[in-house]
Amino acid sequence: MIPEYGNNKFQCPHCNTFATQEWFTVDNSSNKVVNIINHLYFNYRSSINNQYQNGIAGFLKEIDKSFENYFCKLVPNGFSVATCSSCDEFTLWVGKNIVYPKKTTLPPPNVDLSEEIKALYLEASSILIESPKGSTAILRLALQKLLKQVGKSGKNINNDIGELVEEGMSPKIQQALDLLRVIGNNAVHPGQINLDDNAEAAQKLFGVLNFIAEELITKPKELEDLYASLIPTETQDHIKQRDST
Ligand SMILES: [Zn+2]
Repeated sequence: MIPEYGNNKFQCPHCNTFATQEWFTVDNSSNKVVNIINHLYFNYRSSINNQYQNGIAGFLKEIDKSFENYFCKLVPNGFSVATCSSCDEFTLWVGKNIVYPKKTTLPPPNVDLSEEIKALYLEASSILIESPKGSTAILRLALQKLLKQVGKSGKNINNDIGELVEEGMSPKIQQALDLLRVIGNNAVHPGQINLDDNAEAAQKLFGVLNFIAEELITKPKELEDLYASLIPTETQDHIKQRDST
């Protein structure tokens, strides 16, 4: 779960742990301080005469009010901090948006992707929190380049997927490709899918791109390497001869 305003538990961008978060806001902190003061005076109040109780109550009410006023002056509007219970690092929030740190907890891009695609992947991840839509649009471009890397035109994603299906690509991979294609198109030409408030869904698309790379690039490459290293050249030639007739 990516960091969300007010959530008591999320994946910390510092330590990547799904950890409990302690929130500091003007409201909850002034309440905490007032509770502490009230608690301090509790013992004192129980040991003194009734006639002084009203005075003390009035005094407590007064510091409650002045503390809150003073605190509101010190802490800017809409400012809050969440501290991670796992690593003690904090995230800084203005309004409902995280402003520090600006990184997400996404997996790295598949190592077999071209450098150009890896760069696009990282660029998309760097703006995910600020703009899920922009991030998805960049991922769509990355998909286009990926299709080119596997030998397709890279010009029309839909046609490229069609060709791969004709060549016998598994329906699971086709689904992943279409998922990225349809949502990506929606980011570029807004339609029915609203990505503005959906960083969580946009985040999942990074995993989809890596899945596609794994299936279309990494696995075939591993198999090819294994074949070349284990099957004797002579046998490889026999196989080639068998399939050419
Ligand atoms: Zn942490």
